[in-house]
Amino acid sequence: MSMNIAIDGPAGAGKSTIAKLVAKKQGYIYVDTGAMYRAMALYLHRQGIDPTDQAAISAACEKPDISIRYEDGTQVVLLDGENVNGLIRTEEVSRMASLSSANPDVRKRLVALQQKLAAEADVVMDGRDIGTVVLPDAQVKVYLTASVEERARRRYEEQKAKGLDVNIEEIKADIEQRDHQDMTRETSPLRQADDAVLVDSSDMTIEEVADKILSLC
Ligand code: C5P
Repeated sequence: MSMNIAIDGPAGAGKSTIAKLVAKKQGYIYVDTGAMYRAMALYLHRQGIDPTDQAAISAACEKPDISIRYEDGTQVVLLDGENVNGLIRTEEVSRMASLSSANPDVRKRLVALQQKLAAEADVVMDGRDIGTVVLPDAQVKVYLTASVEERARRRYEEQKAKGLDVNIEEIKADIEQRDHQDMTRETSPLRQADDAVLVDSSDMTIEEVADKILSLC
């Protein structure tokens, strides 16, 4: 049986940084499920679909082929065979992903892909519903969070370092909006699984958080 580590939590909690590090230390594959929702969102955006039109999203989401492949240990998301890694972090795609991920048909397709990956290999998988829905039997489950102020500060520093002109209040409002959207949706809302370990990274370094998770393995 494969080893599965599930890491869930709100936007900006550091899930991908931590999951990558834990995967590297354990020799497991890192699976970024958010990137799959983003690839689907890119497809819907390209089709000109209104992010609030659930019927149109349901009809369209069956069409694209979304898969992943690993190149030098890095996850590459393929949308109908095209590497879309460089196209899925834009504002429009983030907004579309946040809305279209609430659609049960979108979730059904992507959850099946995620479960297949986890059955085939030892994985560290991060997302919103990994411990609750995708991998309810994962051997290790972590709910990683941090205060909204700290999450906004980290994102601000990250974007500023990229030379982007950013406003911390806007980032904070955006994070709050996405948290609300993810936690209140009907299908697979973001919540801590009953058997997940809560880790608040507000006052912890990346190494400390990774060590805490490794100690659970
Ligand atoms: O984690 P990331 O910000 O890349 O995820 C993009 C969007 O996909 C999130 O806003 C969230 O709504 C959605 N998502 C989800 N379930 C997951 C992973 C991501 O609903 N397992």
